[in-house]
Amino acid sequence: MNADVPLYIGGNWRKTVETLPIINPATEDVIGTVAVAGEQDLEDALAVAAEGFRAWSSTSPWKRSEIILKASALMRERIEDIARSITVENGKSLAEARLEVIRGCEFFEWDAGECVRLYGRVIPSEPGIRYMVVHEPIGPVAAFSPWNFPMSQPARKIAGAIASGCSVIMKASEETPSGVMHIAQAFEDAGLPAGVLNLVFGIPARISEFLIPRHEIRMIAFTGSTAVGKHLTEIAARHMKPALMELGGHAPVIVCDDVDPVAAGISSATRKYRNSGQVCTSPTRFFVHESVYERFTKAFVEKAQSIRVGDGLDPATQMGPVANDRRIEALQALVDDGRAKGARILCGGHRLEKRGYFFAPTAMAELPDDARAMREEPFGPLALINPVRSIDEALEKANALPFGLAAYGFARSAANVDRIARGLEAGNVSINTLEASRAETPFGGVKDSGLGREGGAEGILHYTIVKTISHLVE
Ligand code: NAD
Repeated sequence: MNADVPLYIGGNWRKTVETLPIINPATEDVIGTVAVAGEQDLEDALAVAAEGFRAWSSTSPWKRSEIILKASALMRERIEDIARSITVENGKSLAEARLEVIRGCEFFEWDAGECVRLYGRVIPSEPGIRYMVVHEPIGPVAAFSPWNFPMSQPARKIAGAIASGCSVIMKASEETPSGVMHIAQAFEDAGLPAGVLNLVFGIPARISEFLIPRHEIRMIAFTGSTAVGKHLTEIAARHMKPALMELGGHAPVIVCDDVDPVAAGISSATRKYRNSGQVCTSPTRFFVHESVYERFTKAFVEKAQSIRVGDGLDPATQMGPVANDRRIEALQALVDDGRAKGARILCGGHRLEKRGYFFAPTAMAELPDDARAMREEPFGPLALINPVRSIDEALEKANALPFGLAAYGFARSAANVDRIARGLEAGNVSINTLEASRAETPFGGVKDSGLGREGGAEGILHYTIVKTISHLVE
């Protein structure tokens, strides 16, 4: 068994009569339960979040920073427990789970630094009057995070909210609830006042549709699919509330003719299958110059076929299962559609014949533009590799979708690097690296991939309002 995860409201852990099962995707066994919030629980969460905001927003930034750093240090100490809970709920390997915990801690540590530097400014004026601009915390935040990064996704939202002086009602994924439970425990142990961080779980639509319209909530933050993000943004707009949205992607990778295609192929495959491809920045649509196409593809496929797939708790495992049975069905449908439309399957293409939601590392080649996988985010271990004749053709195809989260290029000449960096329509463009997001760099999308930025100097600003103070001096 893993854990029975309760709600956390006003500093109290609260069990509920109704619960949902937590399933280990590597075994399909039920390993615990998660609480289901009812209306009274949500009412209570709103009341304590409003109270928590009043106290926390007037707590000094140094004190806020100190508590966040203490909580983060505790999470680093507890890394093995947290990583294990992530692996058994989400499936990723223990090594990846540990890296996720470290990344989550970095999000906290970065915002703990930012919160003492939330500078405003003084606007030049004539003698007798002063104009000041200050950033104040916006108010209680309703935040929603998905199952692909059970600890670092909620960490990013909680970090921005708490660092800026907001309180937060966090609804992390019911399928992977333990990561955020560990966060709340660390904050409780670090002395965060009751009501500042609250956790609810249950029926996602019921919770979001209850919380977002309520006057206590001043801001929405969500990571998940574009469809749900648009729905929540519409509700937020109706109630005139800002919405920070990190939504889907379908990241293109342009491989130019002036790079080492073998090295690019190996690093692309290594990155593609991280977290079983269930990453919004996962490199997916590869547009490879025809002169290096064969060598790139061969190196990619050899690497993909060498990946050891298994239970994430096994130290030898490099890729775990996908997180739930919905992904298996969705991936198989995309592969079958591509095959029917003439694409070549280079490796994988099917579920593994054993217990657990295991899908083979898959690469397909020469997909027509109308293949569903070329337009719909696979969100799984599926790579799509196509040859192109020029950078212009690659850019046109890369930018053809309504997504624009992460985009990548492999290029050597300054001219090629510049064309790709300028030409790709995305919030995050990475050249010769497939890393798209770090604590210190702003992350977010354009087009249907979202609104706003998390991390960097920009992230924390979303959790604030700008207040202008005009002071007529006697
Ligand atoms: P989904 O879109 O229903 O759920 C995604 C997340 O949003 C889940 O954590 C879910 O609990 C939450 N959610 C769903 N409806 C909600 C609502 N009305 N209010 C509040 N939260 C809600 O579907 P899914 O099967 O879990 O995932 C499918 C797709 O979602 C994936 O294929 C992928 O494109 C996208 N996704 C994106 C990310 C990301 O990091 N951007 C993470 C997970 C899933």
